[in-house]
Amino acid sequence: MKTQPIEQLNEIIKNSNNIVFFGGAGVSTESGIPDFRSKDGLYNQKYAYPPETIISRTFFDEFSEEFFRFYKDRVICLTALPNPAHIKLAELEKTGKLKAVITQNIDGLHQLAGSNNVIELHGSIHRNYCMKCHTFYDAEFIANSDGVPHCTVCDGIVKPDVVLYEESLNINDLNKAIEYIQQADTLIVGGTSLVVYPAAGLVDNFNGKHLIEINKTPTKETHQADLVINQPIGEVFSKIDI
Ligand SMILES: [Zn+2]
Repeated sequence: MKTQPIEQLNEIIKNSNNIVFFGGAGVSTESGIPDFRSKDGLYNQKYAYPPETIISRTFFDEFSEEFFRFYKDRVICLTALPNPAHIKLAELEKTGKLKAVITQNIDGLHQLAGSNNVIELHGSIHRNYCMKCHTFYDAEFIANSDGVPHCTVCDGIVKPDVVLYEESLNINDLNKAIEYIQQADTLIVGGTSLVVYPAAGLVDNFNGKHLIEINKTPTKETHQADLVINQPIGEVFSKIDI
């Protein structure tokens, strides 16, 4: 009799001592956070530009007002709560099996769920800095600001510490992510299609035993995953035994 995918997943996790999780937008969408990169009809009615254009460095510099209108409306979501995937990953970290969460999400939900070692490849909405004097501001400051947020110390523009299109990833974070992936015996990739740079390239660094992909919709997987589970990630993680 063929074992069920969830049973296989539990068996792999049971026998692994160095698990790394790599997560994409799908992990957050199950917490009700919209994938701001996805195109829906709403954008076209409300914004004159596609999200990739608005969330770019050029646009930020040239049309700050419009950037922040979109950013506050579509990117920041301060009411979202961790879902079973975030919670189970935090529990797995406490057992010592899970060494790191590498995420492309910027919402901080892994930390809210209790994870400590989180590598945020695209930055975080919870860190914002004045471009002139580098004073720190939290996400609430940005959300509650009127128009373009300005520093209360020097009046400089406060920029979210998120990686915009045309900006490069933090090299230290990228190297740390590669190191964790190289050392892992099990790599679980969840909620991403692996088409967004640098996901595909990062997975190439994996030399361990089990590559697992959990994604709601089947994707064109270029990497050879040992186990593919096409179910909502929260549902899958809620069935993991610890
Ligand atoms: Zn300042």
